[in-house]
Amino acid sequence: MEDFNPANNIQDLQYFGEFGGVNPSISDSSTYTFLSAKTMFDTFEGNTEGCYLYSRHSSPSNLYLGEALAQMEGTESANVTASGMGAITSTLLQLCKSGHHIISSRTIYGGTYAFMKNFLPDFNIKTSFVDITDLSIVENAINENTKVIFCETVSNPLLEVADLFGLAAIAKKHNIKLVVDNTFSPLSISPTKLGTDITIHSLTKFINGSSDAVAGVVCASSQFVNDLKDVNSGACMLLGPTLDSLRASSILKNLRTLHLRIRKHSENAQFLAEKFEKDGLLVKYPGLKSHKQHDLFTSMMNTEYGYGGLLTLDVKTVEKANQLMELMQKENLGYLAVSLGFYKTLFSASGSSTSSEIPEDEQKEMGLSQGLIRMSVGLDHDIQRTYDKMKWCMQQVHLLP
Ligand code: PLP
Repeated sequence: MEDFNPANNIQDLQYFGEFGGVNPSISDSSTYTFLSAKTMFDTFEGNTEGCYLYSRHSSPSNLYLGEALAQMEGTESANVTASGMGAITSTLLQLCKSGHHIISSRTIYGGTYAFMKNFLPDFNIKTSFVDITDLSIVENAINENTKVIFCETVSNPLLEVADLFGLAAIAKKHNIKLVVDNTFSPLSISPTKLGTDITIHSLTKFINGSSDAVAGVVCASSQFVNDLKDVNSGACMLLGPTLDSLRASSILKNLRTLHLRIRKHSENAQFLAEKFEKDGLLVKYPGLKSHKQHDLFTSMMNTEYGYGGLLTLDVKTVEKANQLMELMQKENLGYLAVSLGFYKTLFSASGSSTSSEIPEDEQKEMGLSQGLIRMSVGLDHDIQRTYDKMKWCMQQVHLLP
């Protein structure tokens, strides 16, 4: 891949606060004054350059965060939202109108799946859920109404890796937008550099990293971001998934350490995955050579950030999974909680939690076992010590001798 370093791009931005502060000032206003009525009129007409209108449309704090995330993803622009779902739903509703069709990976976050499966059909927007790792299946699913191919770079929870080069080529050939949720692999993979049109994140996870905020972002061309914010027809402007300025400013501050955190998450996850594999456990991690798309991930990645902080462990039954997770929490090895990207390891049984929106028969078909534990590996200082304690827990629940 061309020389592209997302962390350098973020750091090259220089912001000063109102009084020379080292952080940009937080914009604490929902509305803005105009010196002339004509400028206000022009702003409503879409000539918003340099003017703030109303904070549902944009605010200085949200623009700072959006600019930093656009730099991270290498897009012209970005719009931050009040949640990852706010980013996903606004994007899909902006691109798809009644009669249109979406092709989506079948292994995606349960909320995204539920939106496409249960919500969009009422607006006459249909989705075909396919195995995104087979490009011929994707291409065969395209029809004349297809507007979007949607996938996650690394899927939740199965950690399947999408061939973004291949998908981008198909999308381009058929004049379809490729929309990628990159929540599981920030910095490690830069989808736009691989040909993706629109890159989305739930900022709630690694990017904020402190599990104290819910937020999202759409990174895209200036044209698409302006479309989202259009006062007459923009999904972000009209549906109103607006991020609060205070939160935007705190997320921007956390973004500054993302490169350090991602490296540590990846290092720790790689360590545990290799140990678990040696122990004979059913572990999946893109950094393991045994992972089906290991070479593909390697060919797409920004090497220094590793293969990400998520691994899965299949212990076959939900009872065993619960027993192990409860014990690991008791031993203070992590928390039995959904979400990811925290300093502490977080684990949950996906089938009965974050993927429970997907019916059980479909879970089975896609290979999602009820005993699958998704682990977001934390920033543990001494990962050998963590592993030793985890091994002890596995012995207590008879997963290891
Ligand atoms: N995308 C992925 C991959 C997720 O895991 C999640 C949430 O778990 C979302 C999107 C939704 O993000 P949010 O909870 O910020 O709305």
